[in-house]
Amino acid sequence: MSNLIIIGGPCSVESEEQIKQVYQEIKHNIDIYRGGAFKPRTSPHSFQGLGAKGLEYLRAASRKPIISEIMDTADIELFADVDYIQIGARNMQNFALLKKVGASGKPVVLKRGLSATISELLSAAEYLEMYGASEVILCERGIRTFSDSSRFTLDLAGVLKIKQETDYKVIVDVSHPAGNTHMIADLAMSSVALGADGIMIETHCDPSQALSDNEQQLTTTEFNNLITKLRALSSFMTELKN
Ligand code: PEP
Ligand code: MN
Repeated sequence: MSNLIIIGGPCSVESEEQIKQVYQEIKHNIDIYRGGAFKPRTSPHSFQGLGAKGLEYLRAASRKPIISEIMDTADIELFADVDYIQIGARNMQNFALLKKVGASGKPVVLKRGLSATISELLSAAEYLEMYGASEVILCERGIRTFSDSSRFTLDLAGVLKIKQETDYKVIVDVSHPAGNTHMIADLAMSSVALGADGIMIETHCDPSQALSDNEQQLTTTEFNNLITKLRALSSFMTELKN
């Protein structure tokens, strides 16, 4: 794994073909392949994910480690072949889920809740560790504020605070706070310059046809171009600090 952890892939696993195709196009640029199978959607009318089948397709598509979000304690066995379990923003304080996922002993990417403080995020991480998670990586993904300049407000100072006060790895999901494609590159560059340990970005072969978050997914070409820049910036920042 390179120093900068790159997590990329579509918002959702939509079909066997789609998840294979995205992987083939970005595999050389990612450390962990993402794809949501159980989707937390605001509207019950929206695509809810393929569930267990989605996890199967994701596993079959990727030779790299995979990550997917769990929403229900009852699904934990389905995640046996998933390398990293994601706890989504809406479940950061679902303590039953934190305990169950922790007890699986797997590494976890824990996303910050929509209106959670940093100290609440750190307490949620402690739950995972106390119950047995082998590693906890924290993920800033934007919070709810009065600002309407983007979908969510990316709290880069929060990332800095965690980096300064703890030993946790912190990654930044730049897709969900942006909510569009034109802010993603700059948010990602800023996060890397700030010292984030990794970046999560959603990408799709044909974003306009995506079944979820179609407005914020980069094409695989845009994704690949951006990752090249992020890795160069990351090396430059390492040099500057040495
Ligand atoms: C996701 O990563 O697919 C997701 C739903 O993210 P969040 O929990 O940050 O909204
Ligand atoms: Mn998404």
